[in-house]
Amino acid sequence: MHSTVVRAHEPFVSRPLPDPLKDAQGRLIAYLRLSLTDRCNFRCDYCSVSDYDDPGAVLTRLEIARLVGIFARLGVRRVRLTGGEPTLRKEVVAIAADVRATIGIEEVAITTNGHRLAELARPLRDAGVDCVNVSLDTLRPERLLAISGRGARLTDVLDGIDAAAAAGFEHVKLNTVVMGGVNDDELGELVRHAWARKASPRFIELMPFGKGVPVPTARVKRLLSEQGIALEPCDRRGWGPAHYMRGWSAAGEALHVGFIGAMTENFCDRCNRARVAADGGFQACLGGSAQVPLGALLREDAPDQAIEARIREVLARKAPRHHMEEATTGLVQLLPMMGIGG
Ligand code: SAM
Ligand code: SF4
Repeated sequence: MHSTVVRAHEPFVSRPLPDPLKDAQGRLIAYLRLSLTDRCNFRCDYCSVSDYDDPGAVLTRLEIARLVGIFARLGVRRVRLTGGEPTLRKEVVAIAADVRATIGIEEVAITTNGHRLAELARPLRDAGVDCVNVSLDTLRPERLLAISGRGARLTDVLDGIDAAAAAGFEHVKLNTVVMGGVNDDELGELVRHAWARKASPRFIELMPFGKGVPVPTARVKRLLSEQGIALEPCDRRGWGPAHYMRGWSAAGEALHVGFIGAMTENFCDRCNRARVAADGGFQACLGGSAQVPLGALLREDAPDQAIEARIREVLARKAPRHHMEEATTGLVQLLPMMGIGG
């Protein structure tokens, strides 16, 4: 565990929560996705990222520690650090340690493009991070450059994945956004690459935040079978929206592949999450367009009860499901992915 951690909240004694965080549909909110920055060194076609953060707007380490403490007292148990690219934040390891040391938080995960993971995997693990998701859309260097821009070097990403595999995380997952005509011919290779490192590959349906042709999950499964990956149904479930299928190694070991049917399989009825942007904008749904500025309340040093009330207010208006499919018709306006971290 990291040596000095910041606790900007009153400790609380573990007890059943009288009024745990729920949304308008009665869904318990126990999972927070927290963006550490809008910036990214990649330029993935399907995402929209920024070159800079507004330095006055991004939550400080202390503000993050306080906010996570408030969410934990309301029943949040799992936090995912995301972005933009969270590892561009200089204090990422210290922030991870603070979040993990927050009373009530049982699991901390991070989602990264892997570019800095070779150096950061061990410090993040030592800071208490439990799980790492690395985005890996291709195993071909020239394709990665075409998908993610000139800053994206495949060797760095692959070294980062190997470092994560060696660092002893509870789970390492490799996330692939499947794009028709771009990477749908190498899904089998991606599975084998992940399995060889005891990581779980996951295939995500493209959401309408940028360019690219989506490939429905049902077709991804057919492509995997054609590309030599035999899978069978299984009941494994994680914290998130993925469902899993099982394959077997030559040695008879069970291996998994995850699928996130963001567009064709609406999983909103199981939603357990909320999102905080890098500037403290609180958003109840990835497919929504309204944020409440918790950052301003933190800066005004508003009491915890006032912040808690705004959080509950936003969740009380949360819709039963997202309507991202309507973004393609212009009926729904989405906030950029970089601000909400996937
Ligand atoms: N920079 C980090 C990364 O790429 O892993 C974290 C932030 S990124 C916004 C979080 C996740 O969202 C990544 O797995 C990325 O592939 C996914 N993502 C971004 N845009 C997407 C889109 N339009 N459709 C589906 N997934 C998307
Ligand atoms: Fe950056 Fe991640 Fe968006 Fe790619 S998906 S541009 S790595 S934030």
